[in-house]
Amino acid sequence: MTNWIDAALALTPESRLFIDGEFRPAADGGTFDSFAPRDGSLISAVSAAAQVDVDAAVAAASRAFEGGVWSRADRRHRQRVLMRLADLMLENLDELALLESLDSGHPISDARNVDVPNAARTIRWYAEALDKVYDEIAPTPENALALVRREPLGVIGAVVPWNYPLIITAWKIGPALAAGNSVVVKPAENTSLSTLRFAALAAEAGVPEGVLSVVSGLGAVAGQALGRHPLVDKITFTGSPAVGKRFLTYAGESNGKQVSLELGGKSAQLVLADTEDLTACASSVAWGIFYNAGQTCHGGSRLIVDEAVHDELVSEVVRVGESLVLGDPLDEATQIGTIVSQVQLDRVLDYVDVARAEGATVHGGRRVHPNGLDDGFYVEPTVFDGVDNSGRIGQEEIFGPALAVTTVNGVEEGVRVVNYSQYGLAASVWTSNVTAAHRVARDIRAGTVWVNTFDVADIITPFGGFKQSGSGRDRSLHALDSYTALKTTWIDLG
Ligand code: NDP
Repeated sequence: MTNWIDAALALTPESRLFIDGEFRPAADGGTFDSFAPRDGSLISAVSAAAQVDVDAAVAAASRAFEGGVWSRADRRHRQRVLMRLADLMLENLDELALLESLDSGHPISDARNVDVPNAARTIRWYAEALDKVYDEIAPTPENALALVRREPLGVIGAVVPWNYPLIITAWKIGPALAAGNSVVVKPAENTSLSTLRFAALAAEAGVPEGVLSVVSGLGAVAGQALGRHPLVDKITFTGSPAVGKRFLTYAGESNGKQVSLELGGKSAQLVLADTEDLTACASSVAWGIFYNAGQTCHGGSRLIVDEAVHDELVSEVVRVGESLVLGDPLDEATQIGTIVSQVQLDRVLDYVDVARAEGATVHGGRRVHPNGLDDGFYVEPTVFDGVDNSGRIGQEEIFGPALAVTTVNGVEEGVRVVNYSQYGLAASVWTSNVTAAHRVARDIRAGTVWVNTFDVADIITPFGGFKQSGSGRDRSLHALDSYTALKTTWIDLG
């Protein structure tokens, strides 16, 4: 068994910007500190891109695009390179997983078994798709031939959050590179290291200079510079609604670039009175919110439960929460790791106070210090029972291991409460009535609705939100499409 703590001590992560095929410090030498949430220790100073660095990355991306080295390369060549990248990710599984776990607080077992394989599968899936997607011929009159082709958009700016750094980066880079675009990635400050390593692997796999750059840095500087850049054709963003809306402003005030937004949610798990297996349901509800310490955009943070099954279900969810192994992310036995940062920890703990002030009964909700890791960011799985869905706890995204429980009476009220939210990313319904399942799935306004399960998904299905959860979709062939522009070539046949 690997000693991950020793392995972490032996790590010397690359922490410089990756621009035009090489690692380099920021032009002005600027850095910011990246901390390990497991114990609050400094991992590394990371280069902080300024405007001039973002300009250099975008110029390189644009040059590469115009030159055609990737954008006009045979798609089988792009396919081979991306397949090689996916292979390299798996060959470097332990290192990538360790970087991800150390930087983000994901349990190492999840990083090894879920994050890195999932990200690699994403890259491979889009590579495989490349010679299976056809363009169109329009039904013109006989004297003409009109070809409708998908062409790469140009330069893509990908601004990524800290909750699933590699997976979300792969969701964006995979289809964007497969389609022939150049990409400049701005990872989250908290979690740049796995993305920088990923860039080195991409270069090793044969992604040409300039086609993929990584500008680690501060959102307000590097993120904004990318959002306002006149040579960026599209921004793909995942993060908070406040920052997502800024990208719309940046686009409007610069070149009107396309903006695709995934802005989180307050996803509801609706449990109807006829649910047969409440034990299985409780386990799914608990994992639906507590996985990754609740830092999941589609995390099932609201439990909307029929009063007939409330008591039995909630006590079982609390029991499952208490049974999960909360601990050091570098311990392979750990099931729930840390909150990502001190800022996010404070935010989560503030919400525990808000829940009490709003009259909820609180189970868990304390900061804890497992294994003597006094400065780590650990919070117990938390259940707020008796929540008024229209209050702050029912409406605001907490992004921690906190479940808000609201009791309803019947299907209609349940669906009404589920839909009473500014968000619409995901939801689930538990019932043994197939008609009710279809009706509820139809009536819930969310990008994904699960029936008798939660958070099962794959690259094959689109992912994104209704309402203020955003626009655009990651994953599936729809995402590949979204990194292309349609071009019509109309030929006169005489
Ligand atoms: P942000 O939305 O601030 O961060 C997402 C990305 O945007 C990061 O790369 C960030 O950079 C960048 N960014 C921040 N400010 C700007 C700006 N002014 N211009 C351009 N880019 C910017 O999320 P937070 O990290 O602040 O988390 C706050 C809340 O957002 C969470 O509590 C959660 O509710 C929600 N969230 C939702 C996520 C989702 O998956 N939908 C993911 C993460 C958070 P930097 O890291 O340097 O700040």
